[in-house]
Amino acid sequence: MTTKAQSYLTHFRNIGIAAHIDAGKTTTTERILYYTGRTHNIGEVHDGAATMDWMEQERERGITITAAATTAKWKRSGTDQEYVVNIIDTPGHVDFTIEVERSMRVLDGAVAVFDSSQGVEPQSETVWRQADRYGVPRIAFSNKMDKTGASFELVLNDIKERLGAVAAPIQYPMGAENEFKGIIDVVRQRAHFYTNDLGTDIEETDIPAEYADKVVEIRAQLIEAAAEVDEDLMMKYLEGEEPTVEELVAAIRKGTIEKKIFPVLCGSALKNKGVQLLLDAVIDYLPSPLEVPAIKGKIEDSEDTQEFPADPEGKLAALAFKIMADPYVGRLTFVRIYSGTLQSGSYVYNATKEKRERVGRLLKMHANSREEVTELKAGELGAVIGLKDAGTGNTLIGDGDDKVLLESIDVPEPVIKLAIEPKTKADQEKMGIGLQKLAEEDPTFRVESDQESGQTTIAGMGELHLEILVDRLKREYKVDANVGAPQVAYRETITKQVEVDSKFARQSGGRGQYGHVKLRVEPLEPGAGFIFENAVVGGTVPKEYIGPAQ
Ligand code: GDP
Repeated sequence: MTTKAQSYLTHFRNIGIAAHIDAGKTTTTERILYYTGRTHNIGEVHDGAATMDWMEQERERGITITAAATTAKWKRSGTDQEYVVNIIDTPGHVDFTIEVERSMRVLDGAVAVFDSSQGVEPQSETVWRQADRYGVPRIAFSNKMDKTGASFELVLNDIKERLGAVAAPIQYPMGAENEFKGIIDVVRQRAHFYTNDLGTDIEETDIPAEYADKVVEIRAQLIEAAAEVDEDLMMKYLEGEEPTVEELVAAIRKGTIEKKIFPVLCGSALKNKGVQLLLDAVIDYLPSPLEVPAIKGKIEDSEDTQEFPADPEGKLAALAFKIMADPYVGRLTFVRIYSGTLQSGSYVYNATKEKRERVGRLLKMHANSREEVTELKAGELGAVIGLKDAGTGNTLIGDGDDKVLLESIDVPEPVIKLAIEPKTKADQEKMGIGLQKLAEEDPTFRVESDQESGQTTIAGMGELHLEILVDRLKREYKVDANVGAPQVAYRETITKQVEVDSKFARQSGGRGQYGHVKLRVEPLEPGAGFIFENAVVGGTVPKEYIGPAQ
């Protein structure tokens, strides 16, 4: 039962946008922010105008590292109902999976963006599996329909074959590549033609005759898939009765939230086609904070757990999921409030660090502005200024409440390390401060110093990860240092013999990728299997997972 105090939550969607690098996550996010009215110019991502990629480095490298939470508003098309859409940015690069893990923990639903000319790519698979692990309902966006080689069918088939998921196309593209003209809404049986470059003039028509048969076919499959998850719809289906649009939407929504079906949409973020329909689908099919299982907390000194349903009047339970150094206000702690209400100027108890802490100011982040608020309620995300000790994954509860620890974030072990040597004594001091700050922000980044040699080594999730940290040390902390060659930080041998007959695996020193770690494959003695450096402990490596390193 939803209480009056909780009712605002039905109009909340906390979503992440997850993708393989280059699939168009940044462009899609940026278009979403444009259409939700918070940004005013559509900028090309790699021209540096993207609003989500706010670190200089990200612009240079064209990747998104930070997991900022941005609050936008969207009025569901055809209604007067306004929704709050919190977008939790998830990085696409394989070295930053901890950032993806963090965001998976705090979001309720996700949009998986695919490149229609590439289908499901290795990292799309990695983030899909992570979303599975955290039980995140998803809709899929087959982006880049305008690109040469684009195929909606390719994405649909790949989702079925490679991800083993029930792909439910709720749209169908009209044309592809240069001829991509618009999108058919299969549920409502309407065609949307985009008649200007900004994608703001949309002509809605009946389904053109040339697509009629195709739409009948995929709509029948969609109804069948929806009937599988909804008994009422199944009864109608068996009696040969056509469901109403509302019934079909409700059944797809149910199946999506139960992670039994995955609605698939199409479009071109770059050409501004399909983004408004994507936002409508976020509202229609992804869950509100009231429709996901309540987060659990472990009660201290007991095996018992306590649930925290999304309720602003309940006990405070919040998770810190990202720490960022901000040039204007200092340390920002991004939090998701699961239950209760966090007030500015109040005291909270950091149950992880066992410390009482004072909350200073509270901010909601919008695409181009920050809004100071006096409270953050259950279901909301925002940034806290003033918390000195809270780290990623820490639980914040009410001051004086019984101690509980919320289910937190898995922190994987670092896989690559390198030695770093400051050039002067002054650099050494700055380096100490810089490394400490960077390690606070990023739990996968470790700093170790060798007692005997006095040498400092840093360890992280991949070469690019460390390269970026060294770069930040130079830029932000003005440290001049020499760095050594990257080395494998730990080495796991998969003892089970695995059959690997892909070409590169036969070559000594071939490199590949398994899950989120890059790996190097070396033949041992003939017939003895292979060593997978950095592979998952005790795992086996199915050969289809092994591909050339990217
Ligand atoms: P991300 O790495 O997933 O964040 O991807 P970006 O949004 O940075 O996009 C990667 C590249 O693909 C950029 O050059 C974009 O301009 C381009 N791109 C993004 N969306 C589309 C699209 O719909 N069509 C085409 N043709 N290119 C796109």
